[in-house]
Formats: sequence, structure tokens, C-alpha cells
Amino acid sequence: MKVVIIGGGAAGMLCGALAAEGGAEVTVLEQNEKLGKKLFITGKGRCNFTNACSAEEFRANVVTNAKFLYSASEALTSEDVIALFESWGLRTKVERGRRAFPASDHSSDVIRVLSNRLKAKGANVILNARALRIITEEEVAGEDVTDGEPVISGVEYETHGRSFWIRADAVVLATGGLSYPSTGSTGDGYSFARKMNLAVTDLMPSLVPMNCRGEYIKELQGLSLRNVELIIRDGKKEVFRDFGELLFTHFGISGPLVLSASAKTGPLIGKKELASRIDLKPAISGEEFGARLQKIFDENAKKQLKNVLHECYPAKMVPVILRIAGIDDGKRCCDIRGNEREQLVLATKAFPVSIISLRGYNEAVITKGGVSVREIDPKTMAAKKVKGLYLIGELLDVDAFTGGYNLQIAWCTAAACARDLLKKKA
Ligand SMILES: Cc1cc2nc3c(=O)[nH]c(=O)nc-3n(C[C@H](O)[C@H](O)[C@H](O)COP(=O)(O)OP(=O)(O)OC[C@H]3O[C@@H](n4cnc5c(N)ncnc54)[C@H](O)[C@@H]3O)c2cc1C
Repeated sequence: MKVVIIGGGAAGMLCGALAAEGGAEVTVLEQNEKLGKKLFITGKGRCNFTNACSAEEFRANVVTNAKFLYSASEALTSEDVIALFESWGLRTKVERGRRAFPASDHSSDVIRVLSNRLKAKGANVILNARALRIITEEEVAGEDVTDGEPVISGVEYETHGRSFWIRADAVVLATGGLSYPSTGSTGDGYSFARKMNLAVTDLMPSLVPMNCRGEYIKELQGLSLRNVELIIRDGKKEVFRDFGELLFTHFGISGPLVLSASAKTGPLIGKKELASRIDLKPAISGEEFGARLQKIFDENAKKQLKNVLHECYPAKMVPVILRIAGIDDGKRCCDIRGNEREQLVLATKAFPVSIISLRGYNEAVITKGGVSVREIDPKTMAAKKVKGLYLIGELLDVDAFTGGYNLQIAWCTAAACARDLLKKKA
């Protein structure tokens, strides 16, 4: 069984290591000068390589096509991933939110363990080798590839300006997505899939910050808010609501809460302007907050409003919130009327933010969309229409929230593929 894996990232390396261990003749083609360039930058260089949760909880954190991952995620749970890496010599640890990391806090250790395993099991790793074309037996025989079920024959690749041809019984596409292009995410896998007549769904950056409209956005730049609630509506329909940490930037909003929101609402953003609100005080009701403001006003009757509101808001927020509430910032607390206090409550409980678009792939953690899961056998990751072709990892139309779940997608789809390759070999 000759297996050519295109892409030496997370999914490609694990698939190669497992297939080689089972006796398959594995070649990994990686266009970069080293393996796992994207893995290296994961988890801010610490690599949050999985989340120590059950397979069911893992699927609950998969945003798109969680059902497709049922079989693969049951067959290789995150517990299995941790045990596998430990058995290969990686010491691991689990932190807040059950995020698993190498104990050393170095992503390079995850890459080292995988590449050592590839080498130890005799896999042939060719670096600086960009796959150009997947070749089918029909093409070799000069037949029309659009007729019938094509059968994989090999891969054409280029290295140091020369092109080569390598024969394969099976080709595994593990080329990743489009985010952080400098790590090798050139999107080649989508082109290969389209050429094989496999459907690719709409692609967009995900787990990504958002551009917002509004004068005050720039004024708030650098302000980080903890424990706020972000609510996004599409007309009357609420499409996102969650608590967390949000950061104002020169272009709009970022931070963990916003990244999660992008995963849920990405397909709607840009198509229409979504009205979103931030509840700056989600732990208390509007009435309670109004009463708290009144108490502050009573205790500071002669002081100017702008000089007392720092008790409730970060300093940068005070002039902005007063403007949104339509209150003159020079007013004294004793001159604030009831309806003005209510406007202040409203601006606090429903701070308006107008989202206009997502930021680009060079700021996105992952790509949403990919090769349609309808084209793929969920137990084996084999393409249904092309004999001998497999697709794994981020290339597929599956994506998850942050927390180690996206790498878990890479690992479990890679293992499902490796199992099938070894079954075919037998
Ligand atoms: C900044 C950042 C931080 C992240 N942090 C985390 C985290 O902590 N936890 C988590 O779970 N996920 C994280 N992710 C997401 C995670 O990195 C990806 O989901 C995962 O790497 C996808 O694995 P993959 O093997 O499918 O693709 P990749 O890891 O992207 O590997 C694809 C490989 O294919 C190669 N390739 C592409 N085309 C060709 C070709 N034609 N020929 C040869 N080689 C080719 C590429 O060079 C690349 O090396 C992060 C992503 C980013 C950008």
C-alpha cells in the first residue's frame, strides 16, 4: 500500500505516523522547509492540542457538521489523543477549561514527537515539495475523467524547480485551510478537490475579529472588557448571545467572545448589517443598575457626572457612554433627570455596536467551509466519488470553537483515515 499524504501539518503528520506504524509505505509531501509550521504558532506557541472532554462535549463545540464527526470522534477521543502523545514521549498537562498543552509549554515538542514518529516508522518526508496535481488512472490511460468513478494513480509535485511524479494507491489531502497563509495554507486542497468534482462549500475566515462602524470605536481602542455579554441579532432573530472577554481595537472588536461570535454568525456578516449590543453589566438587571446609579448621584450631588461615573465604567468608556446616552458630560449629578438616568441604563445594558465585516484570513484562526462532508465517508474520510482519495483536517467543511477542538478535528479525522488505509492494506 503506497500512500502519499499532501501536507505535513497536524492531520498529515498524525495520519502518516499511524499509517507507517501499521506497515503502509508512506510519503509526506510538505511544501514548506519544515513540518508543522501552523502547529508551531498554535495556542500562542504553546499548542492547545486538544480539550480533555468527552466525545459528546467535543461535538457540542463543533460549530459546523458535528454529526459528520460522530464516528471519528468516538473512535479517537481527546483522552485517546492525550494517551497517544504521552505514549510517544510527550508530557502533557490540562489547564483551565480542560485545555490540554504539552507540559513544556512548547508547541515545538508536539511537532518533534510527530516528526520523530514519522521517521522512526520509516515514512519518507519530502520537504520543499509542493503537490501540483493528483493523477488518476483514467488520465494515465487518456480516458475522460468526468466519466465513472476515477481511481487514484499518483501525484505530481515540484521541488527546487523540478517536477516529479510519484505513484500512489491512495492520496490523502491534508492541506489545511486558508488562514495564516504564511504557514503554507495556500488553499491548494480546495483546487484539487474541485478538479476531482468534489463540492466545496463557501469559504470564509472564522474565529476572527470583526470590523465595526462607529466614531467611538477608535476612542475605545485598547479597552478590554471582562464578563460582558454580546448579543447579535439578524432582524428580530437572535443569532448569538454569550458572555466573556471582549477587546476594542482600532478597527472594531476582538477577543475570545468575538472569535466565538464569528464562528456562529460569520456567514451572515457582510451580507447585511447585524445589530449587536453589548451588555456591560450582565450580572444585574436594568432596574438594579438604575438604582445603583441613583445612589451614586445622590451621594455626589454637587459633582460633575463625568467625574463620578468611573465608579461604574472604565475611564475610556465614560465620555463615550455619556454621548450615546445623549447627556452633557458637564452636568452635575443633582441635575440628572429620571429619563436621562434611564438613557444611561439603556446605553449600558445595550451598548450599540454595528458589525460590518469579518477581518481577513491573515488574522483568522481557521477557515469556515471546505470540502462538503456529503462527498466524504464519515467513518473513513474517503471521497465517495474517487477511489483511493482521502481528505482530512481543516480542509473539510467542519469547524469548531477555540479550546483545542480544531486540532481534535485534525487528529480524529487523520486517525479514521489511517485505520482505513491499513484495512485496505490488509
Ligand atoms: C494562530 C493560530 C492559533 C491556533 N491555535 C490553535 C490551538 O491552540 N488549538 C487548536 O485546536 N487549534 C488551533 N488553531 C487551528 C489549527 O492550527 C488548525 O485547525 C490545524 O492546524 C489544522 O490542521 P491541518 O493539518 O488540517 O492543516 P495545517 O496544520 O494547516 O497543515 C496543512 C499543511 O499542508 C501543507 N500544504 C498545503 N498545500 C500543499 C501542497 N500543495 N503541497 C504540499 N504541502 C501543502 C501546508 O504547508 C501545511 O503545512 C490555530 C490556528 C492559528 C492560525
